[in-house]
Amino acid sequence: MRSWSIPLGRLFGIEIRVHLTFFFLLVFVWSAEAATQNATAALRGLALVGIVFGSVVLHELGHALVARGSGVPAKGIILLPIGGITILDEAHAAPDPVNAWKRDIRIAAAGPLVNLVLAGFSALVLASTMPHVSLTAKPLLYSGALMRSIVWANLYLGLFNLLPAYPMDGGRVLRALFSRRDDMVRATHRAVRIGHVFSILMIMVGMLISSRAETRWDGYWLMMIGFFLFAGAQLEERSTVFHSVLQSVRLEEVMLTDFATLSPADTLEDALEKAVHTLQDDFPVVRGSDMVGVVSRQKLLEALRSEGNGYVQAVMNRIFDVAAKQESLASAFRKLSARNLSIIPVVDEQHLVGIVTLQNLMHSMALLAESRKLRREALE
Ligand SMILES: [Zn+2]
Repeated sequence: MRSWSIPLGRLFGIEIRVHLTFFFLLVFVWSAEAATQNATAALRGLALVGIVFGSVVLHELGHALVARGSGVPAKGIILLPIGGITILDEAHAAPDPVNAWKRDIRIAAAGPLVNLVLAGFSALVLASTMPHVSLTAKPLLYSGALMRSIVWANLYLGLFNLLPAYPMDGGRVLRALFSRRDDMVRATHRAVRIGHVFSILMIMVGMLISSRAETRWDGYWLMMIGFFLFAGAQLEERSTVFHSVLQSVRLEEVMLTDFATLSPADTLEDALEKAVHTLQDDFPVVRGSDMVGVVSRQKLLEALRSEGNGYVQAVMNRIFDVAAKQESLASAFRKLSARNLSIIPVVDEQHLVGIVTLQNLMHSMALLAESRKLRREALE
């Protein structure tokens, strides 16, 4: 998603990107308006697109700012022709609070709320400054009536996103409500099933009304949204399963207990000799029963090549993090990425009992996800 988008700038420290497919929409509106009327009309058409996407940006900023205020930073906002996506940075989120569902409802509701407030506010402004303009004249969204369009674009965005069709905001509220009693995976599963029913309905209604000439484009639009919703729900469910594995698995379940260690007094050649006999890429360096550093096979090789034989002590990394064996995979991942490490020694009451490496985490993640899926299927 990110690779096909270009950065527009930052608002409140949050990166706003626009997806390349969005420009098709601009060209489409421009050519449709310019063909029928004149350049002024085309500019008004672009202004209308600007209103819709300004409203989408404000909607997404609502999510992003409330998320940040609740301890979940946002990586950025991507604008698509069908709306926006706020990408939250789960890896750097504060640990889940006791009532995580309340936080999730706040984040989900913030977007539509921004639009409903904007709709109400601009309706008031319109009524007081331009009393001769009818709020309900057709078409509601019209480049000849930009102020009225602000009202309806926001009303539409607010209400449509509140549909309980996961992964839309209403569906996220529903999932948060489910998660009061169910675990996150089960709650997501239930919300996704409801979301699928909605998306199939949208596709069917879209097909029906697209057969009539006057509602053809509404039909195509509805079909496209239904399709994206269906695929989006599927993707989100998978990432929730991944996230829950991260949260619930303890390091002692996945750590390597059979591993090689080096001594700071080993020469680099000795160390490399040991490294040949294991699949490990990273080694804890141990003096007596104390952890004193970590070193990678790569580092050993580079040091040997550039400076000739020396001691492990001189090339090892003394800055490292240790984890307790009861810690979760999520916390290990956070520690690895915070310091750009590739190994974490696992300790139990000061004793080195195992190691986790990036390589070994990736392997065990895939295995765990698979075994859970099999177990769940066996249960159902
Ligand atoms: Zn939203």
